[in-house]
Amino acid sequence: MELITILSRCHHFPGFVYQQARFSSDLKSIEIAVRPRKGSAAICSRCHQPAPGYDQLSERRFEFIPFWGFLVFLLYSMRRVDCRGCEAVVVEEVPWGDGKHTLTNA
Ligand SMILES: [Zn+2]
Repeated sequence: MELITILSRCHHFPGFVYQQARFSSDLKSIEIAVRPRKGSAAICSRCHQPAPGYDQLSERRFEFIPFWGFLVFLLYSMRRVDCRGCEAVVVEEVPWGDGKHTLTNA
């Protein structure tokens, strides 16, 4: 789909790839699946350093910038990292949101 190409150019997030875009069941919004780029380490949201993976949370919707009048949501399963520096299991940092608020930074 064209939208993926446009997004990859305009809002490229290092370490992540857009997988597919589809309309939501009510046709009012567009949902875009995102996944980590193969081999890219998750970033600890506390100390902002790459850390080894621990597990993965269930998929969430992140509100993204509206596109052509449609609401756009990113679908992503956040990873948790076992951070040595923080000595804790911490949810990863993602470039489009801080993990608590659904509004994105983009
Ligand atoms: Zn950390």
